[in-house]
Amino acid sequence: MKKVLVLEDEANIRSFIVINLKRFGYEPIEAENGTKALEMIKLNPDIKVALLDVMLPDIDGFEVCRQIRATNSKMGIIMLTARSQEMDKVTGLMTGADDYVTKPFSPSELTARIDALCRRIGDGTEDNENEIAQGPFLLNKRNRTLEKAGVRIKMTQVEYNIIKMFMENPGKALSREDILNTVWGRDYFGELKIVDVNIRRLRVKIEDDPTNPIYITTVWGYGYKWGL
Ligand code: CA
Repeated sequence: MKKVLVLEDEANIRSFIVINLKRFGYEPIEAENGTKALEMIKLNPDIKVALLDVMLPDIDGFEVCRQIRATNSKMGIIMLTARSQEMDKVTGLMTGADDYVTKPFSPSELTARIDALCRRIGDGTEDNENEIAQGPFLLNKRNRTLEKAGVRIKMTQVEYNIIKMFMENPGKALSREDILNTVWGRDYFGELKIVDVNIRRLRVKIEDDPTNPIYITTVWGYGYKWGL
């Protein structure tokens, strides 16, 4: 069962959420204040999604969100905001929340959001095999996608295969022949130059300053290296 942290100081709202999470097959973990929530997260590193109320007696929900994100980028975070707190949505997303639900919400609305978020973040055990996270980059091998700082980078399949090869070999100088053989296949009879062309295009997409690349660096007379 997926663990869901419920941080909510109002006991009646908290038990309403808890009852419904159980009904929908989740394992709720309760916290009535921010300090307790952070404690429960330490005790339960396998919490899948955290529901964070904003107005709390001790630390506010945004600060809890910030502290979770400082060490954990995988946990799904949904802010529970009051209708009067329009700004909360923006602030919440800025501090690293994935979604927000406005109070009052129906049980099915809340669990639909949790279900959707769980699907988006994938199912725990597979994460390690399907994803490679390095610096600001997140490669998802199942979906064949790359994100930089949470923003999807549009790539061709060839570019994706090059990035995958790099991220599977961080810090290692890869010769242009290696890249050509791995990405294009040994039976490809094109020129090595095709590698350079694709690297140039990739740099435009992923480097902060493509003329001064820091992620894909050139190993003169040999090939390229992925380094962070
Ligand atoms: Ca509250």
